[in-house]
Amino acid sequence: MNAAVFQLAVIDQPFVVPAPRICDGCTRRKKAHTVSGNYVRNGTIAFTRGFCALSVHMVKCSSCKKLVARDGREHHIVLLSWTTAGTAVWVRSMANMASLRMALTT
Ligand SMILES: [Zn+2]
Repeated sequence: MNAAVFQLAVIDQPFVVPAPRICDGCTRRKKAHTVSGNYVRNGTIAFTRGFCALSVHMVKCSSCKKLVARDGREHHIVLLSWTTAGTAVWVRSMANMASLRMALTT
């Protein structure tokens, strides 16, 4: 259970994934780059007890020209896309539910 996400859902505040300061891909390839701008995508995090608003901040990389965001791992969430995330626990329980439902309809 992700307590931080749950608390934000209770007070109706978005879970914010802050913008990264570097581009992971270019850092790994040892390419000099700068990041600039602040692009925000809003979405939803699903978790075991409901939903919480999600706000992902991104920056543009000068080298690969990609928008980069943190992958959420350090925040204990799984970013399924820019605007959809689930806590690791929720993703697992959803997989269970799906397999149960399949069993019921066949
Ligand atoms: Zn880059």
